[in-house]
Order: sequence, then structure tokens, then C-alpha cells
Amino acid sequence: MLMLDACPSLLALAPDGNTSGRLFGPRALYRERVVTSPSTDTIDERLDAVAQQSFRARFQLRGHERALVHLRGLQAIRRHAEDVITRRLAPAMPDKDGRQTPYRGHPVFMAQHATGTCCRGCLERNHQIARGHELTAPEHRYVIDVIMRWIEREIPDAPQ
Ligand SMILES: [Zn+2]
Repeated sequence: MLMLDACPSLLALAPDGNTSGRLFGPRALYRERVVTSPSTDTIDERLDAVAQQSFRARFQLRGHERALVHLRGLQAIRRHAEDVITRRLAPAMPDKDGRQTPYRGHPVFMAQHATGTCCRGCLERNHQIARGHELTAPEHRYVIDVIMRWIEREIPDAPQ
């Protein structure tokens, strides 16, 4: 796996590693903003769209991260996700934004890279949630829903 110490947005890389920047134009963004909790189908559509970026599609749950989901169950992982997002993504100006999400060690981190919720730059590009403000409650819940849905899709038989 390609290991970066910063997110593609920070490196100004296009999702496929192309540095022309053309694939990162407004057309790649979702038009509608998050106001209410989207349905699972809507989240699935967004996950499918984000997964068309080869950088994102590369992430899978394996080894330790996969085992942790089986061991702890989805409810516990969701609580972990809430904690991670509260501390690392939700503040208006997160610490080390663009470098705050490790590339291993917890399924939530893997899900964040896979879904483009790893930093505020990626969140803005992939989910149209602007930088520079503390995440609202619906935005916060949306990010958690996206992360958990990706994990559920990776491990359909994960225990609750
Ligand atoms: Zn990022």
C-alpha cells in the first residue's frame, strides 16, 4: 500500500495520483449539502462515488483492524468513531489537519481514508462539508454514518 504521511488534499494530488488537478474540479464534488441524515442508499451512492478514486479504493479492512471489528462489535466501533471524530475532525481547526489520521491501527482510521473523511480538506472535497467551522450535530452524525457504513460493507457479518 502506498504510505503517505499526509492526505492527498494536502499534497494537492488528484485522487488517482495524477497531479494535473483536473479530476479534482467542482464536478467531482457532491452538489447537495448535508442537512438531514441521509438514507443508507444515499450513503452507499456516495461511498461508491468516493471509491472511484483509486487512492480511496485501495483501503480494505484486514488483519488487526478487521479482527478488532469482530472482537468488539459495531456498537463499540461506533463509539470509537465518535471519539475519533470529536477529537480529530470536528473542531473548526483540527490539530495537524491533513496529517491527523494514521494509516493503520484502527478500523475507523482505515474507514476515514477510504471514505474521504480523514481530514477537513478531504471532507470538503468528497462530502461538501466546508472547512473552518466546528462540525454541526447533523454533520458529525453523517460522518459517523459514512464511516460505519463503510465498515459494515467491508464486514457484512460483523457482530453488533
Ligand atoms: Zn484527508
